[in-house]
Amino acid sequence: MLCFSGVSVDYGTGADVVHAIADTSLCVERGTVLALIGASGCGKSTLLRVGAGLVQPTAGTITSDGVPIDPRTLRIGFLPQNYGLLAWKTVRENILLGAQIKGEWSTERVSAFDELVAELGLSDLLERYPRELSGGQQQRVGLARVFLLSPDLLLMDEPFSALDAITRESMQEVFLSLWKKQAVTTLLVTHYVEEALTLAGRIAVMRGTPGRVAEIMDNPYAGDLAHRSSQAFFAMGQELRAKIAGGV
Ligand code: ADP
Ligand code: MG
Repeated sequence: MLCFSGVSVDYGTGADVVHAIADTSLCVERGTVLALIGASGCGKSTLLRVGAGLVQPTAGTITSDGVPIDPRTLRIGFLPQNYGLLAWKTVRENILLGAQIKGEWSTERVSAFDELVAELGLSDLLERYPRELSGGQQQRVGLARVFLLSPDLLLMDEPFSALDAITRESMQEVFLSLWKKQAVTTLLVTHYVEEALTLAGRIAVMRGTPGRVAEIMDNPYAGDLAHRSSQAFFAMGQELRAKIAGGV
């Protein structure tokens, strides 16, 4: 279980200080997906970067199963908003990057690589460069990279936001299918209500300046795209929108 306790982050100092998040606590249970949702600027990416060890909190702690998080020992898959692909490396090299940095290469990984690449429809694209791919294809390369790592913790920052609505829904389906095989503990930042309801069993709403987690809701609709057309799903979406805006 990943827990943020009383986390605050200030950027800068003195007169230029920006209080990005204040006294935020949140736990993601092992083997679940938690979505962090909120308006632009409320501190979602900041909290995710704290989880990845990329930003040091000004106050508070981040623990995994009670132990302070250490990116050197905990395997963290971080999927940034722009997919984080290296322009000068091929698709194959980009996918292998995470696992290679961790210094692990084995016949087991080779077969996991082949399987992932086939499932994500990337087999014919392995020798291309990122600029030769569509947004959806780049996104699939990013997913292949993090899932090949078999991370203990997956952190995704608005992974599907830059995609058109149709591609976004098909990528959500791809994510669910990969996730059902590995059940990686996942913290997903999104600003799409439907995306949170489709993918995450719990949804944390952030709001305010500085931002903090204002509410957490359980979501029974996660994991199955078939719910999307139901009246109950729509009603829950309306409820969530109101919470994001600061009402209820
Ligand atoms: P979100 O992802 O919810 O849009 P962010 O975490 O990116 O929000 O930003 C939260 C606040 O912190 C915003 O006011 C933003 O301008 C500020 N901020 C983010 N990154 C930096 C930075 N590197 N330096 C200074 N301020 C920053
Ligand atoms: Mg952000």
